[in-house]
Amino acid sequence: MRHYSPSREFVIIKVMKLSQLFTKTTRENPKDETSVNAQLLERGGFIYKNSAGIYTFLPLGWRVMQKIAGIIREEMAKIGGIEMFMPALVEKKYLDATGRWEVEVGFKIANDHAVRRGSTSTRLSLYEVEPLSNFVLGWTHEEVLTAIASRFVSSYKDLPFAAYQIQTKFRNEPRAKSGLLRGREFMMKDLYSFHASEDDLWRYYEDVKGAYHKIFHRCGLKAIYTIAAGGTFTAENTHEFQVLADIGEDTIFICDKCEYAENKEISKLMNNGQCPKCKGKIVERKSIEVGNTFPLGDKYSKAFDLKFVDEKGESHLVIMGSYGIGLGRVMGALVEIHHDDEGIIWPEAVAPFKVHLLALEGTEKSGDEIYEKVLHSGIEVLYDDRMDKSAGEKFTDADLIGCQLRFVVSEKTLQKKSVEVKRRGEKDAKLIELDNIVDILL
Ligand code: ATP
Ligand code: MG
Repeated sequence: MRHYSPSREFVIIKVMKLSQLFTKTTRENPKDETSVNAQLLERGGFIYKNSAGIYTFLPLGWRVMQKIAGIIREEMAKIGGIEMFMPALVEKKYLDATGRWEVEVGFKIANDHAVRRGSTSTRLSLYEVEPLSNFVLGWTHEEVLTAIASRFVSSYKDLPFAAYQIQTKFRNEPRAKSGLLRGREFMMKDLYSFHASEDDLWRYYEDVKGAYHKIFHRCGLKAIYTIAAGGTFTAENTHEFQVLADIGEDTIFICDKCEYAENKEISKLMNNGQCPKCKGKIVERKSIEVGNTFPLGDKYSKAFDLKFVDEKGESHLVIMGSYGIGLGRVMGALVEIHHDDEGIIWPEAVAPFKVHLLALEGTEKSGDEIYEKVLHSGIEVLYDDRMDKSAGEKFTDADLIGCQLRFVVSEKTLQKKSVEVKRRGEKDAKLIELDNIVDILL
């Protein structure tokens, strides 16, 4: 029986030849980057810095993003999340409904072309559009989806549901200096859930918590569930998923025994104090917020009059939650955690390729054959077929790019009808007979 696997819907091309990749690695750290994630990702040809806090995902980097997105999509599907896609341009009327037009995190559009084209009438004719100055580049989408939901939800039978998107968000971040960790333009998975009762919201909130733990674990991150402040969203506590790392801009208090954690911003706990849950020791740590969850209550449904009629014919406001994950921030955090002096050490599930195959001088033909063999077995392989590069350069690149398995084909290994196999991050290599290479991969 074939099992349904959502990731199969997203075609990821399994092979790439380095001779055909237009990007190149570099030895030197970029001068204008101080964070490890930006340095290694730029040097490895994963990202290109267009402007402060604004990055291009180059072919290798885009593959990593697609792997992270694939894991997110699978776990979203398991908790009933349905994918959709909303516009990045958000009109003032949406944010006016909640007073968030005044919040200074978005980029408002300053150049008002529609007005400059000479419209004198204050009423818009059929063919005129809203002036662009009435838009912001979306920094979150609660208002937009609540407005959409109010078109479709009228009865308790329409609830609950949860919808998400993976989309570019824009924020006017004053401190965009930590590479992918804090962008002015970045990819976010934002999920929104709609419920008939608080109880149902809290039930789903726990489902999302479970899904988030799985997502971060599968990506290769250990994320700590942390109690946080309500922020602009809600008066209740919210929750963050924090990865311990010195580069992190957050500070949390965490129990060294049971890992109960609170964000320092709201916390009454103290460094070296006692854990309120297990009496373990509380320690203060720096951390990266990779995701968060917000119980929204009826704040947004009230603003958009999003109501449903229950079994008795009574009308109520819909209860909502929203839940974010920063894909680029996850990628940046992964590099911060998983690297050594030589380069990145991607966890297998998010590595751009499973195998990095190096054919050394004089082994082109055998290299091609092994490449064909591996790719026909359905395994993702990056093939360093460049003939103008020395063995040393190829080894250095393989370490920097950081795929889990390095296969080396040389005249020496071929004499033994073998390939040298080494795991990234480990010292020892071993010889595997050509006949067995696919078996060890499956
Ligand atoms: P932070 O506290 O780090 O500024 P936030 O609390 O404003 O983030 P949300 O608005 O809830 O974050 O966004 C959801 C998720 O999007 C965050 O958990 C984070 O993973 C990611 N994210 C937020 N801002 C950025 C950014 N500037 N660059 C990259 N990812 C971001
Ligand atoms: Mg935050």
